[in-house]
Amino acid sequence: MNKPVRVRFAPSPTGPLHIGGLRTALYNYLFARKHGGTFLIRIEDTDQKRFVPGAEEYILESLQWSGIDYDEGPGKGGDYGPYRQSERSEIYKKYIEQLIRDGKAYYAFDTAEELDAARKEYESMGETFIYDAKARGQMKNSLNMTAEETQALIDSGTPYVIRFKIPQARTLVLQDAIRGEIRVQSDLLDDKVLFKSDGLPTYHFANIVDDHLMQISHVIRGEEWLPSLGLHHLLYEAMGWEAPVFAHLPLILKPAGKGKLSKRDGDKHGFAVFPLEYKNPLTGEVSRGYREEGYFPETLINILALLGWNPGDDREIMSLDELIKSFDLNKVSKGGARFDPKKILWFQQQYMHRKSPEQILVLFKEYVKNQDLPGDLKSRIEQKPDDYLLEVIRLLHERAVFVSDFVRDGAYFFTAPQEYDPKAAKKAWKEQTPEIMSALADVIREIEPFESAEIESRVKQWIQDREYSFGKVLMPFRLSLVGAMSGPHVFDIAAMIGKDESIRRIEKAIQTLS
Ligand code: GLU
Repeated sequence: MNKPVRVRFAPSPTGPLHIGGLRTALYNYLFARKHGGTFLIRIEDTDQKRFVPGAEEYILESLQWSGIDYDEGPGKGGDYGPYRQSERSEIYKKYIEQLIRDGKAYYAFDTAEELDAARKEYESMGETFIYDAKARGQMKNSLNMTAEETQALIDSGTPYVIRFKIPQARTLVLQDAIRGEIRVQSDLLDDKVLFKSDGLPTYHFANIVDDHLMQISHVIRGEEWLPSLGLHHLLYEAMGWEAPVFAHLPLILKPAGKGKLSKRDGDKHGFAVFPLEYKNPLTGEVSRGYREEGYFPETLINILALLGWNPGDDREIMSLDELIKSFDLNKVSKGGARFDPKKILWFQQQYMHRKSPEQILVLFKEYVKNQDLPGDLKSRIEQKPDDYLLEVIRLLHERAVFVSDFVRDGAYFFTAPQEYDPKAAKKAWKEQTPEIMSALADVIREIEPFESAEIESRVKQWIQDREYSFGKVLMPFRLSLVGAMSGPHVFDIAAMIGKDESIRRIEKAIQTLS
């Protein structure tokens, strides 16, 4: 294994990238970076029936958002391009001709009706039809015709596919970097179509030709491709090429633990299974995405890295650089990894706590810029100097999980409450309260400098002098400033919004609540 490390992520643009696909890309990326190798993207778009416009852009944008950069691929170029299979059709023709010449692949002219009839016939005998060594002798293909007959059919424009002639009675003993030895009986495989009647290769053929030509050293892909491993090995052998190392990643399982995580699980339990929001161009259906829900890319990457792999110690919060340093294909598990949507919230919280107020400020401003906010909240926020915003962030940081929390939970730093939480009002606002609040406003008017500690000591002193309970004053005070019983230290809030605004809010509450 002294070949330079070259790995690829080879998505088909048939829809949005599922987080399982993103994890495959991530593991390839980590492996490449760890070994100083090359990571490339190849778009496998030879199945025109399944092509979805915009899917490629979606995939590339997801990678970019996630911080998974690649060295070669669409939009980047490289020495092994083009990196879209639809632009490589001439290349595949040359290699399929080689297989035909060597007698390892053959033309098959069976129509859909004929294949259907064969299927029915087998069924009536209680068997399943597969186009294999036994069946191929009875079908309409070039193995059962003279060269002239075959050529005549081709020349007359009869549609055909090209099938691989699976060698008989072979026991393949294969290696998978994660699963160890895997045995495959060639007789159980069917003569897969390598070239379709539209003149384009199928996934299987294009995939091995490209992995060979792009000098891929390790194929790291999802478990769903494990059943193709035998076929792919036989194809490499038939072409006379050395096969890459294979590693099939475990499935990502539903939160309940059984079965592959699907979009439906997300819909049912209310979590995203896609990195970015996706609008289906054909149906208009919108699927939620982690980015739009406010998750940091680091959060998603971190949790995906740990779905099927762990660093062998108890570290959980790991940056991309740490993941690169620690990543080891041999430590990837064979068994499926259960997806826990609650865990991702925890990771998000951890990442939020680790960010500095300055880092959050950048994200906060970006968020506000792109958001429709009620009333004039947006312009009020945008008018505030950075120092003010930083202070708001510091005061709310502890409990924040998403950047949007600073707006949702901190609107009162920018605008007076529009309404008062009725439950809190019932508890805090009593008959005597208007009078007390009015007196409190007078006390506040005299406080100088209007700073948190000073406000606190003066107000508390006044409460004691009057022999009130703290709750009797501080609860309606908070309600006046915030509109609810939540938020940081009430004197911090008063100092932030300033003396005049504090008094205005007290007066407004007296008017509204009395
Ligand atoms: N185009 C295949 C897919 O969509 C790639 C499989 C492979 O990596 O070989 O997953």
